[in-house]
Amino acid sequence: MQQFEHFKASELYCPRCHQSQPVRERLLLVLPHAELYEYRCTVCAASLGSREVTAPPLAAARPPRRIPSPHPARGQPPARPGPPRGLLR
Ligand SMILES: [Zn+2]
Repeated sequence: MQQFEHFKASELYCPRCHQSQPVRERLLLVLPHAELYEYRCTVCAASLGSREVTAPPLAAARPPRRIPSPHPARGQPPARPGPPRGLLR
């Protein structure tokens, strides 16, 4: 599988270069739920920041949620108070 670098559009201010520099995104760490990327100055290789990329929104963003039905299920009688047990002897 071939891995393409993301487009390097972003620039960050580099304190070493005292100006904005294009940054390179490097995969720093792979977590179970996310990937940690690090931004490095392409000129002096100073670490300028990191970014945590979580799993794609399709998988993790919203857990499946049941929509409550507007009316209760049919065929089930409403809960009625039964006769107290143990008192009819
Ligand atoms: Zn720099």
